[in-house]
Amino acid sequence: MTQLVPQPGIMDIALYQGGKSHVDGIAQVLKLSSNENPLGPSPAAVGAIRENAGAVHRYPSTDHAGLRAAIGEVHGLDPDRIICGVGSDEVLQFVTQAYAGPGDEILYTEHGFSMYPILARMAGATPVCVREADRVVDVEAILAGVTDRTRVVLIANPGNPTGTMVEPAALTALADGLPDNVVLVLDGAYTEFADDYDGGASLATDRHNVLMTRTFSKIYGLGGLRIGWGYGAAEMIGVLTRIRQPFNLSQLQMAAGQAAVRDRSWVSSCADLNRQQRARLTGALRQLGIGCDDSQGNFVLARLSNEAEATAADAALQSDGIIVRRVGGYGFPEGLRITVGDVDQTGRVIAALTRWREESR
Ligand SMILES: *Cc1c(COP(=O)(O)O)cnc(C)c1O
Repeated sequence: MTQLVPQPGIMDIALYQGGKSHVDGIAQVLKLSSNENPLGPSPAAVGAIRENAGAVHRYPSTDHAGLRAAIGEVHGLDPDRIICGVGSDEVLQFVTQAYAGPGDEILYTEHGFSMYPILARMAGATPVCVREADRVVDVEAILAGVTDRTRVVLIANPGNPTGTMVEPAALTALADGLPDNVVLVLDGAYTEFADDYDGGASLATDRHNVLMTRTFSKIYGLGGLRIGWGYGAAEMIGVLTRIRQPFNLSQLQMAAGQAAVRDRSWVSSCADLNRQQRARLTGALRQLGIGCDDSQGNFVLARLSNEAEATAADAALQSDGIIVRRVGGYGFPEGLRITVGDVDQTGRVIAALTRWREESR
């Protein structure tokens, strides 16, 4: 009997768990489990999808020139150093696959994004997890964890689900401290929600081994469309482009992405709303005696006293039709990651948790 044997590492991959979107018996749920934009996509992006819908019999361009030009113009970056992917997840897959393989190590941190160990195994490499310091990425621990097998370091800044950030000086120290043959990936999925942060663009501009990744899934409200991009040295982008499928992005994705990135007033009003409601949610949680760090993302990590209490709070929220994210898999069994909603939605979360606290007293 012959047996099909998959490549090493593949069967070690635990499938990615997306945010829940249903509660049994409740028709209208409020989904705050996937860090989606409560205001949805820019109307300009929706218009671009409509305008291009009749032309989907045509193959899209392979070079993404229009989308790269728009991104480059808005962010002040050289379009030739930009690569676009099916979500930033695909760009992360390009970089891990291009630079790591069997026998190599890919470093990520204790509370890092759950896709990181998956991506390492997809490349056949070994994921290596390094501790954080009180829910913040610890640069010294990362540097101490580097071996001669390390090929890629993956960190999200701001972090998900912590919402915390690495200080600019520490980030530079990390880039300085890594060996020349290790790629530092700065996953900037939540950059637009942070105060005064360029996502790592300046580090990626100056160095041959730093890749910044960005996404249209969070502040742009286009998670369902799957568009992301990366920015790095021309040589690195040239490498990644060789393993990119020529038609990875559809014309609809590119047209919507271009319209979305140019609609700066939409982006800034979404960021403003998030900042206000995030502060409101953070304050209310603390008043209820629920611990949380100041978040620089569009979510807040609520830390209950223990796992049982998190389960109870989650159940109370669900009975009010609100879905948030359990983050036991991220090392926080006592945690609930709550996406920041609009004014009404945030009010519903606060009201539900307040009621739960009163009832369990
Ligand atoms: C949401 C998220 C992404 C974005 O993934 P896409 O593939 O662009 O939708 C990337 N990294 C982190 C840490 C995220 O939370």
